[in-house]
Amino acid sequence: MMYSGRFAPSPTGPLHFGSLITAVASYCDAKAHHGKWLVRIEDTDIPRIYPGSEAHILACLDAFEFESDAPIIFQKDRLDIYENVIQELKNKNLVYACQCTRKMLGSNAIYAGTCRDLKLAFQQQAIRVKVSDQDICFDDRLQGRHCANLMQDLGDFVLKRRDGIINYQLAVVVDDYLQGITHVVRGADLLDNTERQIWLGSLLNYPQLDYMHLPLAMNDQGQKLSKQNLAHAIDPKQAPKLLQQAIQALGQETVDLDRPSVMLAQAVKQWDISRIPTGTELSGTYL
Ligand code: GLU
Repeated sequence: MMYSGRFAPSPTGPLHFGSLITAVASYCDAKAHHGKWLVRIEDTDIPRIYPGSEAHILACLDAFEFESDAPIIFQKDRLDIYENVIQELKNKNLVYACQCTRKMLGSNAIYAGTCRDLKLAFQQQAIRVKVSDQDICFDDRLQGRHCANLMQDLGDFVLKRRDGIINYQLAVVVDDYLQGITHVVRGADLLDNTERQIWLGSLLNYPQLDYMHLPLAMNDQGQKLSKQNLAHAIDPKQAPKLLQQAIQALGQETVDLDRPSVMLAQAVKQWDISRIPTGTELSGTYL
């Protein structure tokens, strides 16, 4: 089987234990399938970039001896590529300009398509992609079948914000395609984004990917680890110990404490996804 996987952190905060679990699982799954594993830094959302977090991510990858099978790419260097894809979607009449502000729409509102037929000029407006009234489904390797009707659940969604920022949904789909990714392994917090990404990929005639969404590490307040919840930054000096903990959190057989690359090689040999805890949350608590 052809397999190309990836780890795609956003530098919106330092790497925490939850991101380490994703790195370990995506790496082991790719290598257990004799596949490639690529690293991509998802830094299109400039206002949300947290100072120093990119350097911290790279230092951790180094300390944990994770090796990307291709040079690491940074999405902020690829804005022309995303613009070209937006142009392609414009040519196919699949996107339109939207002048609705967040205030007008309310926070959780399903977008009703207010601007769909207004034919507004694109300059200085958000750009939305049209969705259709149909179920989009996929079979997640851990979470089972998952479906959404984008029209009813969400409405036409934003690909480029009014302030010019390219939305994650677009960048992730384009780069997974251009990097030849076949398998996505990531946290279950992104499960609900998947139908949007499948839809976008289908509009662009990209092949559909295989998905595996991992249960999330939670803190003692029942929240997923994140920068907002003040998750601890991974300490690169503790790489072997933390690696062992991540392997255990994934339900895998423990490995012998050694240098990280040796531990990872053993984890790949022992990799067994049937041992990963079921559900979207891990049962222990983490810092
Ligand atoms: N950049 C996203 C994040 O850090 C992950 C994207 C993905 O794996 O699809 O949450």
